[in-house]
Amino acid sequence: MKTSTKDIEQRMARFNDVCRKSGAKLTHQRLEIFHEVAQTADHPDAETVFQGVRRRMPTLSLDTVYRTLWWLKELGLIKTLGPPRERARFDANLSRHHHFVCVQCGLTRDFYSESFNKLKLPESIQSIGHAEMTQVEVKGICQQCAVKQKTGV
Ligand SMILES: [Zn+2]
Ligand SMILES: [Zn+2]
Repeated sequence: MKTSTKDIEQRMARFNDVCRKSGAKLTHQRLEIFHEVAQTADHPDAETVFQGVRRRMPTLSLDTVYRTLWWLKELGLIKTLGPPRERARFDANLSRHHHFVCVQCGLTRDFYSESFNKLKLPESIQSIGHAEMTQVEVKGICQQCAVKQKTGV
């Protein structure tokens, strides 16, 4: 699933801005890798980003993709979800949002909810740690997987 052109433009503008302010070198590689994450709503992992960018940059290595993605995260340009490092997925949507995760194929999609943003947390959380924000993860079966199940493919 593609991100809207307006969102992609905003993300690329922010990328340029943050790079300039942090004094980071804006290389063609970095730009291509960020663009790959910015243009999709799929929350890709490093491997998937690598496959996408490699089509345009055949000399690119997976290692470079890893290092660049974590560098983008340090700069606050993308977020990660899932367990850190090995299979982490990357998200260029920095607005407040929640996730629907398909338990069968791993599809992850953003959705927005004012009421979820304002969820009241149980006090028991204080004994675990200090909460900074709440992001709801809804688990279920996506439409495509539901169709597959029904037709038995
Ligand atoms: Zn699915
Ligand atoms: Zn997301």
